Amino acid sequence: MDTQMLIGSKFEMGTETEEPILNPKTGATILNLPEASPAQIEAAVSAAERAFVSWSRTTPAQRSGYLLKIADRIEAEAKEFAALEALNCGKPINAVLNDEIPAIVDCYRFFAGAVRSMPGQVAGEYIAGHTSMVRRDPVGIVASIAPWNYPLMMMAWKLAPAIGGGNTVVFKPSEQTPLTSLKLAKILAEVLPEGVVNVVLGRGDSVGNTLINHPKVNMISITGDVATGKKVLQAAAKSVKRTHLELGGKAPVIVFDDADLGAVVGGLRAFGYYNAGQDCTAACRIYAGKKIYDKLVADLSSAVSTIKYNQPDDTQNEIGPLISRRQRDRVSSFVERASELKHIEITTGGKPGEGSGFYYQPTVVAGALQEDEIVRREVFGPVVSVTRFSDVDEAVTWANDSDYGLASSVWTRDVSRAMATAARLQYGCTWINTHFMLTNEMPHGGLKQSGYGKDMSLYALEDYTAVRHVMVAHG
Ligand code: NAD
Repeated sequence: MDTQMLIGSKFEMGTETEEPILNPKTGATILNLPEASPAQIEAAVSAAERAFVSWSRTTPAQRSGYLLKIADRIEAEAKEFAALEALNCGKPINAVLNDEIPAIVDCYRFFAGAVRSMPGQVAGEYIAGHTSMVRRDPVGIVASIAPWNYPLMMMAWKLAPAIGGGNTVVFKPSEQTPLTSLKLAKILAEVLPEGVVNVVLGRGDSVGNTLINHPKVNMISITGDVATGKKVLQAAAKSVKRTHLELGGKAPVIVFDDADLGAVVGGLRAFGYYNAGQDCTAACRIYAGKKIYDKLVADLSSAVSTIKYNQPDDTQNEIGPLISRRQRDRVSSFVERASELKHIEITTGGKPGEGSGFYYQPTVVAGALQEDEIVRREVFGPVVSVTRFSDVDEAVTWANDSDYGLASSVWTRDVSRAMATAARLQYGCTWINTHFMLTNEMPHGGLKQSGYGKDMSLYALEDYTAVRHVMVAHG
């Protein structure tokens, strides 16, 4: 197992506080990893600074070639990466191998193509006798900070557009899930010029905090909690750094009475509970029409009760445990508080799983009201609430009545109603008759407190590059 950080071309162990890396399926410690010292963080930023001089002058075709090599190497070691991610996150192996790794490989390949064909305004004589043109140039050194729910995928979403755009990076994985990033660091050191990507380990309030406050860091890219995003904005304000924020979500799902009930139930069973609900787009806040509500609650509860987890044969598992005991207890306390309300019924689940792993039963919370905590706050666990609505205006008002604005979906057989409702939703993404589906060509990112950074798509390349105007006076 790779345990060393990548600083320039050197592999080094951190020298500070050790963080236990746990197996969420058993609660056992896999190993302890020490975090980076201030001197090691400084060395990583300096390596990125030195590398920027030549990396920022490479051609798009050269950077494209590097991204393709990274994609090929991940693909060649897909099984090893999947096993490590499954171990560190508790994910079912098939979910990592068949869903995540192909999307990760495709992310590097997408940006390898995108960087060679960035669109922009045409050059021209907008003032007589002067030719103007628009450039998109690298921003500089990017501090990239990732969460624990999809460690290798978040690394791909952050690295590919950043280095594709000509920037250099100091990357910090979550202190809970560093293992696949350390494995990828070995590959990056072989494929990329020295210092283009550096990987340092550590906790948010120590290593993360030092990185986001570093005077030589030009841009901070973070996926994480809203509270963490606010700290990033405060740090960025000191030296006016560019920020790319991907924060939480609480996705509303509007189910009209005419929806295909079987498709809704199948969709919610899959997209409300994938990754044990530890997903910022999880279909977790259902608003069901008056007529469909009872049948939806009944069918969803029986479908959710069949979700397989904690099976000895991992290929049978559909979801894994939560990432930590703390996260499991947090989820549990949300459901306990909800179940104390008279109008709420827990129709399936509602308890921690058995054994020493951090499992929580897939849960349906029926009868929830708009003002309930379970409807308003991000649970980040396998818990879906269902609320009854009476008309479209109420459904849209409640859906938009949230601090978050990342993802949403609308389920109906009436295409006009679907389009009219989608147009009124204040979310970075609205799916119609599906949920959760992402593709590297399309942007992923939020509104309101979900942040404003766009991952994947040409919009991410825009976020990681600066627009510049160059004007030439004719002689
Ligand atoms: P978190 O905010 O606790 O941690 C995220 C990362 O930020 C970690 O690497 C952590 O070490 C670092 N960090 C924490 N405090 C910091 C500080 N003061 N300075 C610098 N870095 C700091 O979030 P988490 O618990 O790891 O991840 C779950 C959260 O991420 C959820 O809220 C989820 O919705 C969100 N998320 C959002 C998206 C999206 O695309 N919008 C995707 C995945 C996860």
